[in-house]
Amino acid sequence: MALRIEMKNPLVELDGDEMTRIIWRMIKEILLLPYLDLKTEYYDLGLKNREKTADQVTIEAASAIKKHRVGVKCATITPNATRVKEYGLREMYKSPNGTIRAFLDGTVFRQPLLVQNIKPLVKTWTKPITIARHAYGDLYKDVELRIEEAGKAELVFTSAQGKIKREVIHNFAGSGVLLGMHNLDQSIASFARSCFDYALKHKQDLWFAAKDTISKKYDHTFKDIFAEIFVSEYKEKFAAQGIEYFYTLIDDAVARLMRSTGGMVLACKNYDGDVLSDLVASAFGSLAMMTSVLVSPQGEYLYEAAHGTVQRHYYRHLQGEATSTNAMATIFAWSGALRKRGELDRLVPLVNFAACLEKAARQTVEDGYLTKDLAEMAEPPVQGAVNTIKFLEEVRARLDRSLAD
Ligand code: NAP
Ligand code: MG
Repeated sequence: MALRIEMKNPLVELDGDEMTRIIWRMIKEILLLPYLDLKTEYYDLGLKNREKTADQVTIEAASAIKKHRVGVKCATITPNATRVKEYGLREMYKSPNGTIRAFLDGTVFRQPLLVQNIKPLVKTWTKPITIARHAYGDLYKDVELRIEEAGKAELVFTSAQGKIKREVIHNFAGSGVLLGMHNLDQSIASFARSCFDYALKHKQDLWFAAKDTISKKYDHTFKDIFAEIFVSEYKEKFAAQGIEYFYTLIDDAVARLMRSTGGMVLACKNYDGDVLSDLVASAFGSLAMMTSVLVSPQGEYLYEAAHGTVQRHYYRHLQGEATSTNAMATIFAWSGALRKRGELDRLVPLVNFAACLEKAARQTVEDGYLTKDLAEMAEPPVQGAVNTIKFLEEVRARLDRSLAD
């Protein structure tokens, strides 16, 4: 066996929960440790350890990503009331993704993995569609009130100098609901720049969509900031690459998307991106084929799968079943992080390894070794689904061949 591939600086490794935690270990044992002198700085974001550290571990992991610049994250449980009981939690800890995104700021780019034997549900989509989701603010940092009686609701801003801006929101005749949310010019500007940079790097058109006709200040600010930055910093670079940028309304964008052939980046506000990335993932075949990377304005990268901890499979795993859980997006989280680490540290063998791993994983699917989520959709059809271990062993066989070439 050839020498193991060396690494210089560590990846920040964020372990997680349930079925994805099981798959995480399998990927390391079967596809990484035999080939790499894997260097990671390990943080256990599993719910038990978040409880043990009162969630400090999440903050420490986020700081480590700032330090080392590249991280890879396993899916984690965002606790709700049921989980608080299940795990005996002292507190309903916040979503680790939310905490990390608020810490690093930036944009989440989600791109589906295309394979020849899984046809998208939208017949015209022949190229991947990337959803670029703003990772800060709006609904995800809102303040809400439940109103139980008649009264006046106002929006009030008091400046640091004591100046006041005031608008009536509504005169309530009875019960109802209220919501306040915000965003920051600085965060919107870095969102815009990371989208322009991503589009240039991948030579893809960039669309940005919001609802400025209705939201004449809030969404209009997003539109204006994108336009200003485009004109002053990117217009010529886009022209030189032969790609375009345009703004359109979110409803127009989804209509155009359905009739398109794909291959573009669609930049979305936080909530729109949340919704559209799951829609795009499912239409391309499976949530488990959606890759995800958080890019911060300072150039820090956190790679993960877009899906969650696949709870139902985990309970079957606990009963001794070898589940057929799709490991593709988690494999690509590792390959993405290893490639980025290799690029930053100028380690060509590491970059090559990442490419070989991706090729082997795609080839395994295209050779008809499919997990249950994909097996029924395959064209040509396959005889039944494989379990996760068998899938990973088939990837390993192809990886061996690809590395030998
Ligand atoms: P989920 O884990 O994504 O799973 C939803 C369903 O999608 C699964 O039950 C499964 O369908 C299918 N699926 C997802 N990933 C799959 C895979 N790799 N292979 C095969 N099938 C897959 O979402 P959830 O059930 O709503 O959430 C479970 C937990 O994950 C929650 O505690 C949530 O907080 C957390 N979560 C974490 C993240 C993150 O860390 N990034 C994101 C989302 C959710 P079948 O059961 O029908 O096979
Ligand atoms: Mg979501």
